[in-house]
Amino acid sequence: MKKFNLQSIVRDNIKKLKPYQAKEIPCRIKMDANESPFSVRLSEVIKEIDIPLNRYPDPEAMKLRKSISKRFKINLNNIMIGNGSDELIYYLILTFGGPVLYPIPTFAMYGIIAQSVGVQTLESKLDKNFDINEKEFIDLIKTKKPSLIFLSTPNNPTGNTFSSEKILKIIEIAYKRASIVVIDEAYHPFCSEKGFLPFLRDFDNLLILRTLSKIGFAGLRIGYLIGHEKILNEISKVRLPYNVDSLTQCIATYALDNFYSNIKRFIKEIVKEREILQRELSKLKGIKVYPSEANFILFKAKNSKEIYQKLMKSGILIRDMSANIKDALRVTVGTKEENAEFIKTLKNILEGYR
Ligand SMILES: *Cc1c(COP(=O)(O)O)cnc(C)c1O
Repeated sequence: MKKFNLQSIVRDNIKKLKPYQAKEIPCRIKMDANESPFSVRLSEVIKEIDIPLNRYPDPEAMKLRKSISKRFKINLNNIMIGNGSDELIYYLILTFGGPVLYPIPTFAMYGIIAQSVGVQTLESKLDKNFDINEKEFIDLIKTKKPSLIFLSTPNNPTGNTFSSEKILKIIEIAYKRASIVVIDEAYHPFCSEKGFLPFLRDFDNLLILRTLSKIGFAGLRIGYLIGHEKILNEISKVRLPYNVDSLTQCIATYALDNFYSNIKRFIKEIVKEREILQRELSKLKGIKVYPSEANFILFKAKNSKEIYQKLMKSGILIRDMSANIKDALRVTVGTKEENAEFIKTLKNILEGYR
């Protein structure tokens, strides 16, 4: 076979990237990806699906948008559906370019997508409570004039919310400099605070990102962006016409219309279990636990890498965060049984160090 010089045509910014977590790690208890631990089978959500497969999906996802509109009391014209919120992040960066500003550590996709599109990133380190470093952040807005600012609150992987006063200040300052602020509320369902939907009225430059992934439908790939029609209209220009397939639109609509009481029950259960898990973790010697308003908990331990490996040997998969935060591990809240087994196994591992 003849070979050509592949690398000569790969764009420089792509050469520096690595494919996102290509491998699935087999495990008995999966607590690594902030999914819902509660099984949701397709047949429980919808008994029969009857859609015309010879036709393209509804490019406007009208039924699904209506369901979201009704359920969350958002105007239909202020909703855009994406193939996961990841796709919407991609569209946002394609539409508005850079620089893209976000605090770190945070959700990795903001940086990865900006880099793959070839757009400048501005990163501002969170303070020791994992809150926004207000002065530095605002200075960056003033001096670098970012097109887009991403704030994940509750933040992944730290679990805390950012101070809402700081966020409001940032939105105001960004407004004066024509920067768009995207509040990523992927974990809003687990959070005790109200979120930023009520502020859409006050600020034209505010967008809110939500997803069905963390509340039981990670397999569907549905995210939605909420904001002013004018902004969504610009993003529509880069959106692929059939970005969400008919099957997914149909199932997601059903899930919101007919299955949501179950989802609410699951969310309540997760929040309850999170509190228990937090308490149990804080009892363990050698563990530092951070407060969480999400469906996962960040904690620190010496030998974190080894602990991660030992848990995996016992069949429990969590997330090693030590590349971003020294000694840090992130565990997704599981079912009562899963959490109990995780705590028991971790306790045994820690006792081995004494
Ligand atoms: C998981 C996650 C997303 C991605 O959601 P999808 O809808 O599955 O693409 C977005 N933002 C944050 C902060 C997340 O943790």
